[in-house]
Amino acid sequence: MEISDRLKKLPVQFFSTLVNKVNKAVAEGRDIINLGQGNPDQPTPPHIVKALQVAAEDPQTHKYSLFRGIPEVKEAAADFYKKQYSVDLDPEKEVAVLFGTKTGLVELPMCLLNEGDLMLLPDPGYPDYLSAIALANVRYETFPLVAENQYLPNYADFTEDQKALAKLMYLNYPNNPTGATANKAFFEETVAFAKENHIAVLHDFAYGAIGFDGKRPTSFLEVEGAKDVGIEMYTLSKTYNMAGWRVGFAVGNADIIEAINLIQDHLYCSLFPAVQKAAVAALTGDQKCVDELVERYESRRNTFINACRRIGWDVQPSTGSFFVWLPVPSGFTSEEFADYLLDKADVAVAAGNGFGQFGEGYIRVGLLLDEDRLIEAVERIDKLNLFNKA
Ligand code: PLP
Repeated sequence: MEISDRLKKLPVQFFSTLVNKVNKAVAEGRDIINLGQGNPDQPTPPHIVKALQVAAEDPQTHKYSLFRGIPEVKEAAADFYKKQYSVDLDPEKEVAVLFGTKTGLVELPMCLLNEGDLMLLPDPGYPDYLSAIALANVRYETFPLVAENQYLPNYADFTEDQKALAKLMYLNYPNNPTGATANKAFFEETVAFAKENHIAVLHDFAYGAIGFDGKRPTSFLEVEGAKDVGIEMYTLSKTYNMAGWRVGFAVGNADIIEAINLIQDHLYCSLFPAVQKAAVAALTGDQKCVDELVERYESRRNTFINACRRIGWDVQPSTGSFFVWLPVPSGFTSEEFADYLLDKADVAVAAGNGFGQFGEGYIRVGLLLDEDRLIEAVERIDKLNLFNKA
């Protein structure tokens, strides 16, 4: 059976090759330390699981949901933004419930762009943004995120064509894969840039809860005028270890939210109501579990970075997310180095070029294993004598 040209254009999942290599190594009985993935390792906090159990017992939740989600979950999202970021949101007009944010960010170009329109994406960036490009049949150009500019775009470098033609831009801080964060001044600059050039903004706030050194990540909506130009997507996957549950939401500009709701009216009947009730429990309940999770990631980051530095690997600490972005030693490409670590040290990492051409020269490590395993990974790498300890 022939598939559509649209599906033929979908990008090949770069990391499926990594997953296959790791699975093969594990099947051979090798003890692989897998730092290549982005799947939270901790369980969902018990009060959220309990809320699902209770809600699943209620026959009311067995029916179709309201198409645009139950009112409580949108109110909970609005209250959460008020409490966390002092942002006012109208739960009905400025919140859309999502099946995880991946779904939302893949839908968005279909909501706002016509075929052939131009979108701007970060390089390096989350690979699933490219799925959105293929399904909406739009064009894209990238803007580089480089260490010298703290992995923030430099709007002065955008071309006249990009400024004139682009209709939508994606940003993501705390950033996957670089672990960089953005401050309010940057988002103010973003709002001014977007207004001047009539470009809609999606801020992907997937790691919104995870900021280190006492600094809580900034929401795009905290900035004056952000709602005029864009939206933010927030997922429960990382904040509450709910990656398998598939629940998130989009907040901000009412026209964009309406467009998302409209496409979703035709694609789904919203999420299982019991999952929505559990999301309410997560967003409105005690946030101590989130503080503990952030402490855990920060401690892992410190342990890992210190171990790397001890073996002579010059690594910058990430300021948010659960990733570390490490430079590859000279003589290797990103992919060669990732393969080398897997073959010689039984350590799996994500090659930076899988996130875009500006990821070349880096690998990404996920801090999703206990500290003793993180230390063991560095000890195994140390045995390869790649770094100069002096
Ligand atoms: N955005 C970024 C940057 C991510 O890293 C991820 C997941 O890894 C997502 C979005 C999607 O998260 P979810 O679909 O679980 O909400």
